[in-house]
Amino acid sequence: MPNSSLQPTPISAPKIAIIGAGLTGLFTATLLERAFSQMNDQKMNDKSLIPEITIFEKSRSVGRLATRYRSDSLTDKNWQWAFGAQFFTAKSASFQQFIEPWLQTGLLQPWCAQVVSLTPMSANNQTPDIHLKEQWGSTQARYISTPKMTSWGRALADELQHSTIKFNTRVAPLAGYKQTLANKISNKTELFDENGNSLGHFDWVICTVPNSQAVELMADSGFSEYVKITEPTMQACYSLMLGWNENQPLPEALSRLDMAWDVAYVQDSIIDRIFIEHHKPEHHALLPSMTIHARNDWSEQHVDDDIDTIKAQLLEAAQRALNWNTQSTPNQVDCHRWRFAATVTASHKEQLGTLVDDERQWIVSGDWCGQGNIESCYQMAAQTVAAMV
Ligand SMILES: Cc1cc2nc3c(=O)[nH]c(=O)nc-3n(C[C@H](O)[C@H](O)[C@H](O)COP(=O)(O)OP(=O)(O)OC[C@H]3O[C@@H](n4cnc5c(N)ncnc54)[C@H](O)[C@@H]3O)c2cc1C
Repeated sequence: MPNSSLQPTPISAPKIAIIGAGLTGLFTATLLERAFSQMNDQKMNDKSLIPEITIFEKSRSVGRLATRYRSDSLTDKNWQWAFGAQFFTAKSASFQQFIEPWLQTGLLQPWCAQVVSLTPMSANNQTPDIHLKEQWGSTQARYISTPKMTSWGRALADELQHSTIKFNTRVAPLAGYKQTLANKISNKTELFDENGNSLGHFDWVICTVPNSQAVELMADSGFSEYVKITEPTMQACYSLMLGWNENQPLPEALSRLDMAWDVAYVQDSIIDRIFIEHHKPEHHALLPSMTIHARNDWSEQHVDDDIDTIKAQLLEAAQRALNWNTQSTPNQVDCHRWRFAATVTASHKEQLGTLVDDERQWIVSGDWCGQGNIESCYQMAAQTVAAMV
């Protein structure tokens, strides 16, 4: 008979809260599930360590991946714009391995875009000046998610087995927790929503919100790495979305026979980049659609301006870049303001990496702890899981 006093204390399943259902939050949940499942396999299938993960998301969908549609009532066809992230890289071997299953199914696809450098019309230039710059894929692959940029986030969410996502739930700042840290018996963190309703008690809290929002969530909370959160700043980005009718002529810069292109890096303009949506893989059935990103420094300078004024300024810059006339003027025009689009860190500084408070079991993470892109979301998720497991 085994001596019951020698039985190991049962380890209860950890309750984990992830704040934010962007890619950092979704990658973190995915990698946590995988890590715990591996631990269970090593323990001969003892399921006692299955984590209970709850992801809280203030909006009704996933993060800064965003797709907007318009439908033409006559043709029933769509315009479509990925007005947040357009593509991503997978430079590290571990991220390449992570994305492989979705490359196999075709949900993720490489975009071998023809990239040009474009100088808009000016007093000296009667037409936009366009030069071939590179073809993506020849050195470094760029990937997109199909049929739209949000599809991957949705797939990641659907494939989670031990995680629940609570949309439309904004987590309130953790400031009040300082007083209850003295309670070492459970050492759990109770989270609240913005109306003061309890969201539950958690062993670990992982915050994956954009930098400025992490500053607000962690202010006065006693988080040991708080000062580091205040180091980076974020810049805005305006996205202009343009669409043309089915049989409408396209602007001169798009219809040149000598220079077919998919992506333009724009010089001497408030516009930074132009992406032709209907040229992407699996996007050919779309009506002609184009997403234009304004420069981050210009967007930040004008972050509180009236959106119609911004739209008019961007349209004027787009006209000089694309050279449309009365027939080829875009039929659809829309504009979106991203308040927290890009992370600015002092170039001499190293990446922050995830910020861990071991005593409280809080981790602050997000793309801004790395280089501010989708690949960084994965790196930060992997660091979080390494810190916990
Ligand atoms: C215009 C634009 C262009 C970009 N282009 C590229 C590109 O070409 N390539 C690339 O790799 N990356 C690009 N990026 C960056 C890329 O989109 C981000 O790196 C990535 O989406 C960040 O994911 P995240 O999960 O860290 O943050 P987010 O996607 O911002 O997710 C954080 C989530 O937290 C939620 N949240 C915030 N506060 C709370 C709260 N209190 N309670 C609950 N939820 C909360 C937010 O609603 C959000 O959904 C671009 C971004 C923008 C805006």
